[in-house]
Amino acid sequence: MAGFRLPVLPPDAPSAVAASTVSPAPAALGDGPVPADPLLDPFARRIRYLRLSLTDRCNYRCVYCMPEDVTFRPRAELLTFEEILRLLTVFARLGVRRVRLTGGEPTVRNGVVDLVARLAAVPGLDELVMTSNGHRLPELAGPLAAAGLRAVNVSLDTVDADRFHRLTHRGDLARVVAGIDAALAAGLEVKLNAVALAERGLSDAEVDRDIVGLCEFAWARGTVVRFIEHMPMSGGELFGDGREVTAARIRATVAAAFGALEPAPPRSGPPRGPSRYWRLVDAPAREVGIISAMTEHFCDDCNRLRLTASGELHACLGHDDATSLRDVLRAGGDDAAVERAIAAAVSGKRAGHEFQRSGAGGPTKHMVSIGG
Ligand code: SAM
Ligand code: SF4
Repeated sequence: MAGFRLPVLPPDAPSAVAASTVSPAPAALGDGPVPADPLLDPFARRIRYLRLSLTDRCNYRCVYCMPEDVTFRPRAELLTFEEILRLLTVFARLGVRRVRLTGGEPTVRNGVVDLVARLAAVPGLDELVMTSNGHRLPELAGPLAAAGLRAVNVSLDTVDADRFHRLTHRGDLARVVAGIDAALAAGLEVKLNAVALAERGLSDAEVDRDIVGLCEFAWARGTVVRFIEHMPMSGGELFGDGREVTAARIRATVAAAFGALEPAPPRSGPPRGPSRYWRLVDAPAREVGIISAMTEHFCDDCNRLRLTASGELHACLGHDDATSLRDVLRAGGDDAAVERAIAAAVSGKRAGHEFQRSGAGGPTKHMVSIGG
């Protein structure tokens, strides 16, 4: 399928982190001792959170995520359940406390409910959560909750059924809404994720209507929508034509529709992620989250790693470099070898991404292959 480039922005368009702050790629640690704290990165950021991709396959084809004719990895390259469990056990022993299952679409992995039950029992993990497109949640939300899943973030970019179908190339809004409601009924904590991207031809008024519609949809269910600034993965290619919507624009639209916003007070407990929350001054229970990776970046607080479905450990979403933990396992490596490989990846964690809003400086990989 022919791809589009993002519109080229003026030269002062912000880059999150200057190129000069880039640290070297991971160095191999050989057979030496495991470092004392493998999850402490060179910038004194402690890793507590792992995004674990269960598959690179998906039943949707969102325009910002992958091309229609994407090539998937051969199944033999995917980590087996036993390999995933072994790696998770090591990560938890080293200090990872929170795991988010992602993909591709995690619910299309065969046996996902059984896997969740086994992962939920890994000693040391405090929290197992998932990000899903919601399509299979009408059937799976109850079993997943019973297996030990605590929460699900459902991706929903619009509540307009036609536009949803276009953005996802095959999505069924009614099923996703049923999935969200099934997740709430099953007792899962639910949040909505919306990538802020306007298709070509969409007027400003239609963009505003989408933002407002998502807020109303979320609030009617007692939940929250988090708008995610589009990140130019895939070397800046976009598999449909569109333009970005910035965090500032989203706040302005919400304030114009519902009244003034103020920062929501920090939540109790450890920091959960990059979303910054705002609430209506006149209705503080109504919040909006903004994940502004591009215009108001949050790399300084990054506490996460990403493990792809084929076992590549990415220390940063914004760079292609990765360390294969699957190769370590399949070469017969013991847990110390796995820990050394994890430490090598963490020691190469960059200060931040170098995405430019024009699409330059980011990874060539598709979002779907790293896991979002
Ligand atoms: N299939 C699941 C889903 O859609 O929720 C999980 C995987 S998806 C890759 C994870 C998240 O990444 C989704 O919320 C999706 O909207 C987001 N995402 C995908 N491509 C993106 C991009 N280029 N910029 C920002 N977010 C993106
Ligand atoms: Fe699939 Fe999620 Fe990517 Fe959409 S964002 S194509 S649902 S993996």
